[in-house]
Amino acid sequence: MTQLQDILIKNPAAVMTGLRGPRARAGSVDIRIVNGRIAEMAAGLVANPGERVIDARDSVVYPGWINTHHHLFQNLLKAVPEGMNQDLQGWLASVPYPRLNRFTPQLAQIAARLGMAELLLSGVTTCADHHYLYHANGTTETGDLLFDTAETFGMRFVLCRGGALESASAHPGFSKTALQPETLDQMVGDIERLKSLYHQDTPDAMRRVVVAPTTPTFSLPPTLLRELAHTARGLGLRLHTHLSETQNYVNFCREKYNCLPVEFVAEHEWLGPDVWFAHAVHLQPAEIRMLAQTGTGISHCPVSNARLGSGIAPVPQMQEAGVPISLGVDGVASNESGSMVGEAHTAWLIHRAEQGASATTAEEVIHWGTAGGAQVLGLGSVGTLEIGQAADLVIYGLDHPRFFGFHDVAIAPVVAGEPIAVRYSMIGGRLVVDDGVIPGLDLERMRAEAWEGVQQLMHVVD
Ligand SMILES: [Zn+2]
Repeated sequence: MTQLQDILIKNPAAVMTGLRGPRARAGSVDIRIVNGRIAEMAAGLVANPGERVIDARDSVVYPGWINTHHHLFQNLLKAVPEGMNQDLQGWLASVPYPRLNRFTPQLAQIAARLGMAELLLSGVTTCADHHYLYHANGTTETGDLLFDTAETFGMRFVLCRGGALESASAHPGFSKTALQPETLDQMVGDIERLKSLYHQDTPDAMRRVVVAPTTPTFSLPPTLLRELAHTARGLGLRLHTHLSETQNYVNFCREKYNCLPVEFVAEHEWLGPDVWFAHAVHLQPAEIRMLAQTGTGISHCPVSNARLGSGIAPVPQMQEAGVPISLGVDGVASNESGSMVGEAHTAWLIHRAEQGASATTAEEVIHWGTAGGAQVLGLGSVGTLEIGQAADLVIYGLDHPRFFGFHDVAIAPVVAGEPIAVRYSMIGGRLVVDDGVIPGLDLERMRAEAWEGVQQLMHVVD
């Protein structure tokens, strides 16, 4: 982790704040960072002795993106040929499931290192990883390695502790391998261990633990779903899981439980401002109202949803109803990229394609990917650029022909999308990308380790 230093960002072309409405833009103000926090935002600030000055001409400043749904281990499973043209079920059965027992903690760490490097170089400063490589006879060490890896990069990290329980042995992920799901005691014991070692309650926490069974429907019996909610709330931890990603998911719930997925989770005490769901692609208006009324959030993952043909989440309707919305890249085995710029660009476009040009604005999409993420994760000190907030911010360089000719450069990263370069990124005032590079990162070694990992995961005998 780099040293904390006071920093003055001078002369950016524009500053986006992550806030809504007229406060979404702060103009071209300078930003002073003292002791890891934003101390001043005003034009014409003069450098103090000992301050590092960053010249941000031809650049725009954004709050660091907050990625609220990822599966970092999938960074070694990009473009697996047998899963390229499959829907969610076929893809799960042919890409991650047959390889679950191949992921040693070391291989998962190589994947996580690769994923975090890509996240940082797209401007992400907080990552919530839904990590579900847990089974009855396996090690729980990978969770610890993920926290270690995040600390090496200086990244704010939320471990959503996944997995499946007991009667889930019919789960296709387990029937594909010889793996057995954990018992409730195993899962809860590890959650308590992780909480005592890593979890911070503060609004600027660098480390959080979340209770996150892989799905509420397929991964555990309903009684244990409710019990896990009680466990999480007893420990003061948030709740996260996948919900209503495909029409099949809705059909399963209707057939097995005679209700809609949001009704099912409501019945088992899985709604509230301490819960957020990944995807929520297939929702009825009544379900949207339930999410809004309870303050339950979502992680919108439009690229993965498009890639797997799952559909387009009714996010403009959710926003209208007041559902807290955030963005997630999902695992890169169903995205091929872990870039939040790519995700934001797609989020901006895809609802307009379906619902018309007023369905999204660039400012709203920036809000979802920054302040919205902070809200669903309960990290009140990040996600916006305002005085007093932790200095989690990214400086995008616009010195490339594709960014010349803009009438409004403030929104260029979202509306033009990639390629775009992060010149600087900081987390709590510490530079995690400095002059375009991650300090100390050995890219050649990373490439070699990734290639070696791919070899180990490539051939699967079904
Ligand atoms: Zn996912």
